[in-house]
Amino acid sequence: MSDCLFCKIIKGTISSDKVYEDEDVYAFNDIHPKAPTHVLVVPRQHVDTLTEADDPAMLGMLMDKVRKIADEVLNLTAGYRVVINVREGGGQEVFHLHVHILGGKKLPF
Ligand code: AMP
Ligand code: ZN
Repeated sequence: MSDCLFCKIIKGTISSDKVYEDEDVYAFNDIHPKAPTHVLVVPRQHVDTLTEADDPAMLGMLMDKVRKIADEVLNLTAGYRVVINVREGGGQEVFHLHVHILGGKKLPF
């Protein structure tokens, strides 16, 4: 998806503050953090939204990476929140599936 912001970040044509990458995902700090730690985990495969993500293996892989990044890279031992905004009604602004990891303080609901 040549016009997708997160595809451009994954390719490196737009810069980002990377925290982790492997063959399946790319993770970077959110440019407008909502918590002391606010990282976006993005699958390299472009999928617009969770609604279109109909591959259970890909979704399982994504959540496994989120778990490992939160615990082993970000060291969020006190806990954290995982958020996926889905389409406009869910507050999604970038239409490339991504998971927010929020932590570093006690989060209000
Ligand atoms: P969402 O509302 O779930 O689509 O989340 C999109 C997120 O991407 C927002 O939290 C933005 O702050 C973040 N964002 C937008 N552009 C960039 C960028 N260039 N680098 C890092 N984060 C970004
Ligand atoms: Zn994309």
